[in-house]
Amino acid sequence: MQIVLWDTRQLDVSKDFAGGYGVGQYASGGGFRGQVVRWFYKRDHRPPAMTFAYLTSIFRQLGHEVQYSEDQVPANGDVYVFCPSLITLNLELAAIREVVRQRPAAPILVVGILATTLPEAFADLPVRLIQGEPEQLLWKLDEVLNQKPGPIPVGSIKNLDDLPFPDWDLFEPKKLRIGYDFSQFPTGLIQQSRGCTFTCNYCPYIIIENKTRFRSPESVTDEMRRGMHDYGFRSFKFRDPLFGLDRKRVLRLAELIGNLPRKVQFSIESRIDLLRPETLDLLKSVGLTSITVGIETPDETTLKHYKRAPINDDKQRVFVETCRRLGIRTVAGFMIGFPEDTAQSIKAVLRYAKSVNPTFANFNIVTPYPGTEFFDQAREDIADFDYTKYNVYTPVMRYQHLTHDDVREWHARCYQKYYFRWDWLKENAHLLWPSTRWLGFGRPSVATSKEIEAQAATAPATSQISLPIVQNSSSSCGESRAA
Ligand code: SF4
Repeated sequence: MQIVLWDTRQLDVSKDFAGGYGVGQYASGGGFRGQVVRWFYKRDHRPPAMTFAYLTSIFRQLGHEVQYSEDQVPANGDVYVFCPSLITLNLELAAIREVVRQRPAAPILVVGILATTLPEAFADLPVRLIQGEPEQLLWKLDEVLNQKPGPIPVGSIKNLDDLPFPDWDLFEPKKLRIGYDFSQFPTGLIQQSRGCTFTCNYCPYIIIENKTRFRSPESVTDEMRRGMHDYGFRSFKFRDPLFGLDRKRVLRLAELIGNLPRKVQFSIESRIDLLRPETLDLLKSVGLTSITVGIETPDETTLKHYKRAPINDDKQRVFVETCRRLGIRTVAGFMIGFPEDTAQSIKAVLRYAKSVNPTFANFNIVTPYPGTEFFDQAREDIADFDYTKYNVYTPVMRYQHLTHDDVREWHARCYQKYYFRWDWLKENAHLLWPSTRWLGFGRPSVATSKEIEAQAATAPATSQISLPIVQNSSSSCGESRAA
């Protein structure tokens, strides 16, 4: 069979983020600073959703031809597969209608989280909604094709090591690039685990399951070896929502990564309290360049209200400072625009972000994802149910003390005030442009944890200066999930 994977990159979508709901990119607001931001963003070529690479591998293993199509509906497909995100949903619905018109007999499969959490969006279409992990099609494709259109529960993979490695062949692998994490390209996506055991009630990663499944470190590094050989990958972004949960595995993985034929760069996403300084040190020695974390807000009451286990303030500063000293970039997610937010509470988030001073700060506007506990809890406070606006940069809640324009303005202000600062440049430039060390940027690469703690105890004063910056839209366990 000829199987068509239909995709789009419109609206700057990154479909893998926010638990598969996808996020957009901050449009930057114009002006010189906006142009600089846009220029940095445009240099990236983000990989498509990992699901497509897995499905390519699976369908080929089953003996089918696979075709990847961006924004076009090829007329020769026997089966069409869609993996919609929230913000591109209208594009996907239009393409599905086009398939129905052109190829009325061809089965249409919808995979990804929307198939489970938003079946009503496809109610008038003859599509098979694959509810569960799409990779189950390795075992269930025939069964699914023999069923009538409608929801089809397929469950999840018991042993992740049973999956074939993702096949990136159709996705121009040599072009793939994620500049905020790496200086070497092309970049591949990889996972060593799926799921999370924490309970942040706004997080889409725990909608389908609230547990973690792991791959063996051996299988993960075999995949890295294959990615280096077949696609020339020089960097790997781990897409686990919670890297580091099992420390023994991390240590073994680090050992195996250290034995790869060439040194690669890799980045991870984690909670700050899962990574000890000695683990960071070890991971750095085998190629770790960047960690995405969630800080969200310094307000503990807010964190507890949304069931996020708070992390001690000093630990967050020490963590970022430790990474800086080791030469690891930090990408921290912050959330603004809770229904109860005020100008003061948003200012407090910005102030705190500046004092922690990660390499990248992603200010995400609180977004209630369907299927999360937060969505039900905040239903009365949701002002806009047009999910195509749920890109984490658009206000969609009803605010008690602020208008949508206020939140939009504060959001833009957070980005500008955060990056265009002397202290940001002084403490982070060497991580992005190592040669700036010679100009006096950055600090010595070795410090005792006592020194770091002593410095972190006093929040650095901030001063304003206009400087060009880089920003990206996606964080992780600090990810753009509610934000
Ligand atoms: S935000 Fe992070 S820690 Fe919280 S549930 Fe989601 S993945 Fe887990």
